[in-house]
Amino acid sequence: MALNNSISSTIPASLSSAHHLQSKSPSLFTAKAFKKPKRLSLFFSAMGSFLSSQKPKKIQEADKGNYASISDEEWKQRLSKEQYYVCRQKGTEGAFTGEYWNTKTPGTYHCVCCDTPLFESTTKFDSGTGWPSYYQPIGNNVKSKLDLSIIFMPRQEVNCAACDSHLGHVFDDGPPQTGKRYCINSASLKLKPK
Ligand SMILES: [Zn+2]
Repeated sequence: MALNNSISSTIPASLSSAHHLQSKSPSLFTAKAFKKPKRLSLFFSAMGSFLSSQKPKKIQEADKGNYASISDEEWKQRLSKEQYYVCRQKGTEGAFTGEYWNTKTPGTYHCVCCDTPLFESTTKFDSGTGWPSYYQPIGNNVKSKLDLSIIFMPRQEVNCAACDSHLGHVFDDGPPQTGKRYCINSASLKLKPK
């Protein structure tokens, strides 16, 4: 939506670039466009939907910059207390207390902070730990890094690749499919049922 706004507020500039796109009779196009504002807005809304149907990867890359600029204070306002504690302060919810530890509903688990799809329910398994567990994330939407916060127990922390939200940890004792166990806090997820 922001895209459409920014385009319509800079119509003259966008029009001149449209000339280059449309090789045929630029002056005719301009005259037509100014005579028929309805057509013009149609042109731009079509352009908007074209842009938004681009590969999700591109959108995520763009979003990455946006999320990095969100202040701690703003996250605090956007999220519940529990979500803020887990996602932005690397907290851990109690075992068997989260919303999804025992959920078997088919669907996709998204990042609660930025809505990036992170895990499919088809990769969820019962780990017996009391946290939702998955053997595989969606694409490269989850990244991991070494976590030495418990000195005698080095772990791999997992974060949302788009907004850097803390999700949980990944361990090497998962089921045969991948051997990985992504141990995730319910508070950092939002299930969208199929
Ligand atoms: Zn995210």
